[in-house]
Amino acid sequence: MQILDGKAVAAKVLAAVKAGVADLVGRTGVTPTLAVILVGDFAPSKIYVRNKKKAAAEVGIASRDFLYPEGCSRETLLETIAAINRDPAVHGILLQLPLPAGLDEDEAVTAIAPEKDADGLHPMNLGRLLAGAPVMVPCTPAGCLEILDHYGVELKGAEAVVVGRSRLVGKPLAQLLLARHATVTMCHTRTRDLAAHCRRADVLCVAAGRAGVITGDMIKEGAVIIDVGINRLDSGKLVGDVDFASASQKARAITPVPGGVGPTTVAMLMRNTLLAAQRQTTPPLPAGGPENPLPPGDPENPLPTGERAG
Ligand code: NAP
Repeated sequence: MQILDGKAVAAKVLAAVKAGVADLVGRTGVTPTLAVILVGDFAPSKIYVRNKKKAAAEVGIASRDFLYPEGCSRETLLETIAAINRDPAVHGILLQLPLPAGLDEDEAVTAIAPEKDADGLHPMNLGRLLAGAPVMVPCTPAGCLEILDHYGVELKGAEAVVVGRSRLVGKPLAQLLLARHATVTMCHTRTRDLAAHCRRADVLCVAAGRAGVITGDMIKEGAVIIDVGINRLDSGKLVGDVDFASASQKARAITPVPGGVGPTTVAMLMRNTLLAAQRQTTPPLPAGGPENPLPPGDPENPLPTGERAG
């Protein structure tokens, strides 16, 4: 059984981003800059933001903090986003979710200029993904694909099952797998027989946010498992959604938690920020150019490639 090492995959992506940042700075003098908006005191969000800022510093991306207390008003948040949208010195925006109760996440995400939407969650960017012409791909699903590609997992024709249908993970991940010619099944809380669907999966991606929702008996012999879940047990231990011990008996390969999808999510945010800076600074690049972070066009892909590269 192989461990799919998300840290190694993230390190490879970050090295490429670092080179891209150096190239952009060298050619244009522009330093890619990420605005980080954090509202409230939710402890996990603070940790995620700290990790993202650390990664940014490592690759040469500048970050600017916009920190607000729990009671931040809707007007303040929207005015902040509007001001950053107008600021040509900021290329990407990270709006750390979840927002405190009382603030409308959909409204805030939609207020972000699509070209600065480093998380890829703006309806315009999600629509582009659906249309087969992605620009900013949501970071966690993009990280899952990066892991699968790094380890050479065949997706074409594979039975892929995605557990979870959130806008953040499940839905965009299913789209990415579909665009790579997997046969995709999506499962959720109303799915009648979750185990039966999972047992058919060659590639099983789990983003339910429920520790141990997938156990070894639900896994096909030789399957590849991407465990997106992050759950903290009462003991303080971090675990995924997949019961690692029993899953390891059946799976061919599995991402650990921590050290699997999490690090790649951060790396993809850096990649999106660089892409945003490149697109706002330089003329469009030719398809497949060295700075195009998206996979090369697939001649078999029936979907339009549109603006893939530039
Ligand atoms: P979410 O918005 O709560 O969505 C969870 C999805 O899972 C929902 O679609 C839900 O179905 C489904 N689900 C929940 N329990 C289920 C069950 N017992 N059987 C089948 N489906 C079930 O969560 P999310 O934002 O997508 O995040 C999912 C997990 O990934 C969380 O643990 C989160 O912390 C983690 N995460 C990790 C990263 C990373 O970088 N590694 C990034 C983002 C999220 P319904 O739609 O029917 O309710």
